[in-house]
Amino acid sequence: EPHLVLRGVHRHYGEGDKFVRVLEAADLTLNGGELVAIVAPSGAGKSTLLHLCGLLESPQSGEIEIMGIETSRLGDRGRTQLRRSTVGYVYQFHHLLPEFSALENVSMPQIIAGKPLAEAEKRSRELLDLLGVGPRASHRPAELSGGEQQRVAIARAAANHPRVILADEPTGNLDPATSDLVFDALFGLIRNEGAAALIATHNHDLARRADRIVTLQDGLVVDHQL
Ligand code: ADP
Ligand code: ADP
Repeated sequence: EPHLVLRGVHRHYGEGDKFVRVLEAADLTLNGGELVAIVAPSGAGKSTLLHLCGLLESPQSGEIEIMGIETSRLGDRGRTQLRRSTVGYVYQFHHLLPEFSALENVSMPQIIAGKPLAEAEKRSRELLDLLGVGPRASHRPAELSGGEQQRVAIARAAANHPRVILADEPTGNLDPATSDLVFDALFGLIRNEGAAALIATHNHDLARRADRIVTLQDGLVVDHQL
């Protein structure tokens, strides 16, 4: 069963001369262990697509299914609950809490979800190790390099075992070599955890390493050959 399915998704904003059609009849399927890159010009609708996939926004019509659960009839609480239990989000800028260590940052969402501290920290250490930042566990964000900060942010996004990981330009503010490293770490994580990932990126070299590349064209999600 796919982790995420979009069927005939329609999303527009505004009315009259402010009307913007972003998605017309978008279809997309993400399977477990699969990393899909989305490459499209600025304003094409990448963030909108990621927000729809993360249930932060709703389509005007069409279906979004996460782990077999069709979301169009869920209320706000149901959507929030499903998002928290199935989706992890990585931002362009890490949004780590500056007063807390890497370990604490990754443990936080687990504690909030009700996990005992020792168990949360065990999971955090595993993730930090997997992403190659285990030795930085006690560092605060300001004491980490940009690539390390992003890998900690990825560990945090993965902390509660999301089935879908969404990332908006996760290497957007990193140099090419560091971007490679972060992308590798993300890849390793996806494979290891069997999650599905949708990554928006401007970086064609990185996108080429994904399992599949898609773009947005005329309101559709279409396969993209670089
Ligand atoms: P991208 O992430 O590819 O740059 P976005 O998804 O942010 O694209 O935006 C796609 C289009 O939708 C843009 O033309 C943008 O102006 C419009 N848009 C996005 N969000 C809103 C909103 N909340 N209200 C009105 N228009 C919006
Ligand atoms: P890069 O050269 O990869 O951009 P930096 O030069 O920023 O990395 O940092 C190199 C290493 O030093 C990193 O592993 C980081 O964890 C550590 N580091 C950076 N700043 C601090 C700091 N203020 N305190 C402690 N360690 C730091």
